[in-house]
Amino acid sequence: MAGRETGETAVPAHSGPVRDVVEYDLLFDCVHCGLCLESCPTYLLTRAEMDSPRGRIYLMKSLEEGRITLDDDVVRHLDACLGCRGCETACPSGVHYGRLLEQARDFVDRNYRRGFCDTMRHAAVRFSFPYPARLRAMLWPLRTAERLKMRAAVRRLAPRALREWIDLLPAQTQAAPVYPEARWPNSGGPTAVVHHGCVAQVLTPSANRNTERALAAAGYRVVQLAPTACCGALDLHDGNLRRGLDFARRNVRALKRSGAQAIVSAASGCAAAIASYGELLKNDPELAGDAREVSARATDLSTPLLARGTPAGRLECTVTYHDSCHLVHGMGVREGPRKLLALIAGVRLVEMAESDLCCGSAGSYNLLEPAMAHQLARRKADNIEATGADYVVLGNPGCEFQVAAELRRRNSSVRVIHLADFLALAASGA
Ligand code: SF4
Ligand code: SF4
Repeated sequence: MAGRETGETAVPAHSGPVRDVVEYDLLFDCVHCGLCLESCPTYLLTRAEMDSPRGRIYLMKSLEEGRITLDDDVVRHLDACLGCRGCETACPSGVHYGRLLEQARDFVDRNYRRGFCDTMRHAAVRFSFPYPARLRAMLWPLRTAERLKMRAAVRRLAPRALREWIDLLPAQTQAAPVYPEARWPNSGGPTAVVHHGCVAQVLTPSANRNTERALAAAGYRVVQLAPTACCGALDLHDGNLRRGLDFARRNVRALKRSGAQAIVSAASGCAAAIASYGELLKNDPELAGDAREVSARATDLSTPLLARGTPAGRLECTVTYHDSCHLVHGMGVREGPRKLLALIAGVRLVEMAESDLCCGSAGSYNLLEPAMAHQLARRKADNIEATGADYVVLGNPGCEFQVAAELRRRNSSVRVIHLADFLALAASGA
């Protein structure tokens, strides 16, 4: 047995809550209709009820009522969930699945002892990802190897588990598109701030920079937020609720202080996390009001750009768009990025099949659950290639790494690019 429940024993059948797993009342929103099943990526892959939203809600309820113990099997089904919230979009009953999952994972984190390898993987993610300085330091050897044209050799020498992580990393020294300086007046208009995130500021700084420049080109006065703390999403999704809440509080204070009218993130996972601060901190006596205010100002990039008129540009190419889960299912942003792309002269937009099905990235999911993540990446890459597009545009760095890694694996000619970088490319007339 890889792990076991700690501090609690099995309790006989019971009709009410005997454990504090999730907000019990929220479980009753689910009427077991099953309409979410075909929207759930893990159910599509395994066809197992316990890998569906309905099945996982049943597990949470059974745990809460003490009808099952927190054993390896239960944890496996909860771990396999991507947290993509595709089920929320499909659910006619308004189930708050994302909140339920965060609470259930926190319960798992407090009450279940993982096996050694699993513990190490979770610990590595928690230690490095939310802290840009640590992540930079850890990537330094790879960056050096790349400069010496030795990345492939380093990869070959690395243990298998580490090799999979290396494969996901974009080239550390590649040049990225940049918005032309002349289009960056940075004066007048409403204020906007770009939350730089943690992983994004190390691995895709161009997306942050070009998001700021696109906003400035559209007439926003871009203010800086320094230093930026992790938004907390990685911890919230991984069951580390206490630290996730600490990050949320730090960000609420900093974002409120910035006075920005629009709070934008180039990472849709971060934008959705910031948009959830109001709910997350609703019982915080000091910050509940500020958290609500900050949440109400959180937005994706397309919304403020479309509100002010889009930056001009031209690029002759065929483009398909991948809906990042937390943008489409967490924030309900589906049309905005497409409208923005369609406004660029020369761009031909083609839809891919299952554009809103998770690519398997899901925060740190592809590092922690690589088998399921690979299957989803392959499915996504098949759908992308079937469009014949030159570019797949998306709004989240995690999806960018995941999709790019799979397309590299198959030597595809399709280029993966963040929406902000694509706007920069079009603005520079490349
Ligand atoms: S969050 Fe995604 S993977 Fe998890 S149950 Fe919902 S649809 Fe399935
Ligand atoms: S989560 Fe929603 S869609 Fe899925 S079974 Fe429950 S009520 Fe139906």
